[in-house]
Amino acid sequence: MTDVSSCRSDPGNRGSGVLVVYTGGTIGSVPRDPGDPRSPLVVVDWVEFRRRTSSLSERLIDGSINTRFIGFNVDACELKPVDSCNIGPDYWVDVARVIAENYDRYEGFVVLHGTDTMVYTASALSFMLEGLAKPVVLTGAQLSHLGNVRNDALQNLLTALMIANPARSGLPVVPEVSIFFHNALLRGNRSRKVTSSGFEAFKSPNYPRLAAAGESIVVDRRVLRPVPAGGLRLHSHIEPNVASVIFFPGIQEASILEDVLSDPRLKGVVLMTYGAGTVPSDPRVLAPIAAAVQRGVVAIAVSQCGGGRVELERYEASVRLLEAGVVSGNDITPEAALVKLMVLLGDPALDPVGVRRLLNQDIAGEQTIADRADRSPSVPGQTA
Ligand code: ASP
Repeated sequence: MTDVSSCRSDPGNRGSGVLVVYTGGTIGSVPRDPGDPRSPLVVVDWVEFRRRTSSLSERLIDGSINTRFIGFNVDACELKPVDSCNIGPDYWVDVARVIAENYDRYEGFVVLHGTDTMVYTASALSFMLEGLAKPVVLTGAQLSHLGNVRNDALQNLLTALMIANPARSGLPVVPEVSIFFHNALLRGNRSRKVTSSGFEAFKSPNYPRLAAAGESIVVDRRVLRPVPAGGLRLHSHIEPNVASVIFFPGIQEASILEDVLSDPRLKGVVLMTYGAGTVPSDPRVLAPIAAAVQRGVVAIAVSQCGGGRVELERYEASVRLLEAGVVSGNDITPEAALVKLMVLLGDPALDPVGVRRLLNQDIAGEQTIADRADRSPSVPGQTA
């Protein structure tokens, strides 16, 4: 694991306002060959990013007052800037530690991040930062301002900074991990990346947006998480030995499923079922799932559709999963389910029974528990 000392603080940091955690991504990328805009994008470091983002500075390079200054102090801490496809659990821990260690000094935090894995990092932070009472806003861009006159980077960055500094912007405090993109603030662990090129890159299929940003920024207080009592508690152990299995016609004839589920290293699995939770009623599918659960692997069912929920009691072809001891993911996204599993399985205080119990609960706003809640039966030999 890279430790937090690998976070490079900007020497100009003043310890007030908003702390930006800079991780790279398209927002911080320029063409590798300055003479060829089509050459592969590479990430720049924070010094370069800040130098080319004048809205963050009170004065321009010639010393004159910057009339387009955002209006409050922005500090920064740089983790190794990367394309977000390279970000994983160790990196999440570093981001979460930076936030936890600087929690009392700042009004809020903005994490600049590539869009490809942004929802995973946002989900991870939401589960790792228990008791969060300040805004943590992730943002990035499809087109960086560093190399494009027409871009979505500046608006995303400036709006995210304002949401992260309610004391200066006058906005309500959004005490949770969110994603600001295009014109919407979304709950991080409810978000999904839905296009690889459009500016409206994220959607929250099963939960309303937290704020809309047009001429003004309007926060919908009714849908925010309540401000928690007590302080921040960091969960910094993550279990990486999990898998995600997407069902497809023919999976019953392949041996892949059994191979994955019988791997002794496997601790948890997300089953990306059809529709409302169906999977082929075939012993070649159901037996390996039941055997894995019996061994202590925690399995959660989610829908592979873009939105909606699983209702495992609804069909004969889905209730078999409940009978095998699979937990219903309700309307959680596949990404949030995977990361929640990783964080819960990493908690040394939880055994598989405890992990299953918390999977059935809404712990960070990630799922809506159905009225007619799917009951996950206890696994024979375990108490739920
Ligand atoms: N490949 C980039 C990344 O995720 C895409 C982006 O930032 O939009 O780092």
